[in-house]
Amino acid sequence: MYILGLGFIVGTALGSFAKAIADRSLTNRSFWGRSCCEGCKKNLPWYDLLPVFSFFLLHGKCRYCRKGIGIEYLLVEVVMGVLIGYLFNQQVSNFQFSIFNFKFLIFIIDLLFKTFFITVLVALFLTDIKKMLIPDRVVLPAIVISIVFIIFITVMKITFLYFSLNQTRIGQLLLPPHSDYFQRHALMIAEPLFLGILMGVLIGGFFMALIIITRGKGMGGGDVKLGALMGLVLGFPNSILALMVAFLSGAIISLILIFGGKKHLKSAIPFGPFLVFGSLVALFFGKEIFNRYLGLDIGGNLFK
Ligand SMILES: [Zn+2]
Repeated sequence: MYILGLGFIVGTALGSFAKAIADRSLTNRSFWGRSCCEGCKKNLPWYDLLPVFSFFLLHGKCRYCRKGIGIEYLLVEVVMGVLIGYLFNQQVSNFQFSIFNFKFLIFIIDLLFKTFFITVLVALFLTDIKKMLIPDRVVLPAIVISIVFIIFITVMKITFLYFSLNQTRIGQLLLPPHSDYFQRHALMIAEPLFLGILMGVLIGGFFMALIIITRGKGMGGGDVKLGALMGLVLGFPNSILALMVAFLSGAIISLILIFGGKKHLKSAIPFGPFLVFGSLVALFFGKEIFNRYLGLDIGGNLFK
């Protein structure tokens, strides 16, 4: 319960951050510098920037010019609060806590990585739904940071394996030059890293091929980079699930919009939000879906 609450609070703050990143990339403003009111451009003090709280304290209006803040801010903060609260709760209940050790450190870094990924997804959801844009200055650094995270987690796990084997007499016999046990298991640990990079290239390449075939209708270069990020972070087979959910939900919503008369067959609907939705489903429920409904045990996954 505490974890859920903690996750919610962290999530609302990150929601506020994701919204700021999204707004600033759409208006070509720097990511650095204080937040100001959209209306009167006055710099806002910290107590006007408290996620969720400030919105209610100010009755949804700027303290200085009384311009409406927009329900969007509140919505993004609450949705991020729910997502991160759920993530913290899910991860903590799947983890056997012991005293502080190496495993706990890996757990924390893994949790940070997922929190980072969700924040990026929400920011890209906002930019794509608003202006059909997936900004390079968000998605490219996110790809680089994700690679660093995955390599770091992999190296930590291999180091952990080495030290835990080296602690016992029997374990030492499994290390080189006595046995190839360590090398084989180190390779298994590194598998998600290779699969992630492979999936990133494959999904990015797949979208690129779609753009060439359809001559750029329906998908853009931003989707290629978002696809690469998804493949990289979700790996195999989770990124395939994310893609399937994205295409399926995209088709359903498009049909609803077309039959509801809101969009025409030719009008473009951004695909990024569906990729984000698919990624979140795969991140939160991928393991369960593969295990329970498809009878596949996805071992060797970075996120197990
Ligand atoms: Zn103002």
